[in-house]
Amino acid sequence: MTGAPRAVVSFDLDGTSPRLLTDMGLLPTPSDAADPVLVEAVPRIVELCERADCRATLFVVGRTLEGLDREVFDGIDRHELGNHTHTHPDRFGTLPPARMREEVHKAHEAIRDRLGSEPVGFRAPDYDYSPRSLAVLAEQGYIYDSSLLRCVLPPYMSREGVHRGGAPFVQGGIVELPVLSSGFPWLPVNGTTMLTFGLSWFKRQLEQRADDGAPLVVNFHARDLVEGVSQRIIQQRFRVQPRETSVSAIEEAVVHLAAKYEIVTLRELADELA
Ligand SMILES: [Zn+2]
Repeated sequence: MTGAPRAVVSFDLDGTSPRLLTDMGLLPTPSDAADPVLVEAVPRIVELCERADCRATLFVVGRTLEGLDREVFDGIDRHELGNHTHTHPDRFGTLPPARMREEVHKAHEAIRDRLGSEPVGFRAPDYDYSPRSLAVLAEQGYIYDSSLLRCVLPPYMSREGVHRGGAPFVQGGIVELPVLSSGFPWLPVNGTTMLTFGLSWFKRQLEQRADDGAPLVVNFHARDLVEGVSQRIIQQRFRVQPRETSVSAIEEAVVHLAAKYEIVTLRELADELA
């Protein structure tokens, strides 16, 4: 294969839980939840992809769309929307198939009805890849999954499929497009580790992995693109310190990716392999 190595810019639009917002006194009832993380992060993602001139794949949690103004998603049409479950449950890969099916189906309907887009791709919460979820996805007409993360850190190390490495493969009629990790000890190479180890570390990992020839599936999180009130929520929910520089660092990383790599969506990659 010739030309620039290819990369995917993906964002998991993890919001906050309505119950948490209620507990914090920020909302009177969970049903009023317009997720503040999404309200702030989604327009910022659209804007920064505009600036970097790239298309992204955005994984949406169905329930977070409740109470959200459609305007938050203005400009989203250029990007691909994927399914990131309806409620973002813990340990998705261990759920009974009926529960998996419900999570995928409800999120699919919410994304279709609220955003007018039919997802064909899925990412499990916390990269909880499971071959059983592939059967559920195939049954619902999906073409790809992008949940597998090769990583020896807990909780990833105990998961099924971790030994499979970072190259795409087809299983049970579904294309698996693993999320990028480093060489041994296989740390995730995503927005979170970039903020921890720095942009030069991130760029170095990209260069090393690009040598393998597999597309680089890079993952960022909406919560790294918020400031102000949302940061207070994030601090409580994810127990991390707010980082004022994170917004500009993520922007710089996306601009770098778009300058150095040919940016494609996950769907485009999956279509080639399906
Ligand atoms: Zn998530």
